[in-house]
Amino acid sequence: MPSSPACEILPWHQDLWGVLAASPRLGHALLLAGPAGVGKTRFADALGRHLLCATGSACGQCRSCHLLTVANHPDLVRCAPAPGKTEIPIDDVRELTAFLTLTSHLGRGRVAIIEEAERLSRAAANALLKSLEEPPLGAHLLLISHAPERLLPTVRSRCQRVNFPVPAWEEGLTYLQSVGCPQPVAALTLAGGAPLRAAALTAADLQMGEDLLKALEDVRSGRLDALAAAEVWHKIDGHKAFAVLTALLARAIQRTVPVPSGDRPDPLADRLQTLVVGLDLRQIFGLWDKILDHRGLLDAPLDRRLVWDEVFLVWQHMSHQTA
Ligand SMILES: [Zn+2]
Repeated sequence: MPSSPACEILPWHQDLWGVLAASPRLGHALLLAGPAGVGKTRFADALGRHLLCATGSACGQCRSCHLLTVANHPDLVRCAPAPGKTEIPIDDVRELTAFLTLTSHLGRGRVAIIEEAERLSRAAANALLKSLEEPPLGAHLLLISHAPERLLPTVRSRCQRVNFPVPAWEEGLTYLQSVGCPQPVAALTLAGGAPLRAAALTAADLQMGEDLLKALEDVRSGRLDALAAAEVWHKIDGHKAFAVLTALLARAIQRTVPVPSGDRPDPLADRLQTLVVGLDLRQIFGLWDKILDHRGLLDAPLDRRLVWDEVFLVWQHMSHQTA
């Protein structure tokens, strides 16, 4: 049985794949945009396979498909920030653009995949513009980004944008069950509905979600003082905790509107619903905005305590107003 990319395409991307793979005029530069953990990279890999296969159908049998399977294809290059680095430097892009101008080894053109494209340095993004404007014959550029608004507008405007939204909740749950995720509901909640991100969460991440929810419940009920909660939470990995906090609030906000019938039981969502019942939705959104604003301050060691103080004090204030 040939390994057609249709088999590798995630269930929630099948329709999109059908449209793009059949498109006779696929753009030479695509921007695959959407939140982290929905499968953009996997989709880009399948697209690369589709473009480079000798039969144009990702047959799984030809030399090209074989070389892709062993990650050693001479006409495919990948580019991403180096481990521990925040930017993709201009030298990496120079190498990549030079690669695209060379003659294809196997005669099906050349493909470059840029992961986390929002991390291209300004100079690197500018160096990429020429390839986007006047692509070498047979060259395909696949840019992947979960923060496309951070890309230079000149880069964005030269790419055909393909959006990858978070899939339907049920679809995400079905996927997580199929890959043996032990706590699919909790994982999907904490991952903001992104299934691959949910599948990658550890037991410690899930425990953090439970602990943070408990802290919110206890502050809401008055069992725990806001500043005492902040005392605990400011010592914990701030970025992870804030991601968990925003995911919990997002699901709680979702639950303030009536749940469609047919949903499977979701005790965690019920707890979140109880957590925010009676609260002013505008205040919850206000807190949400504050959390997003504060994310940038988390790396400053002195501010972290103040950030958590404010989050829990606002939460306590909201809770007491409606208690
Ligand atoms: Zn093939």
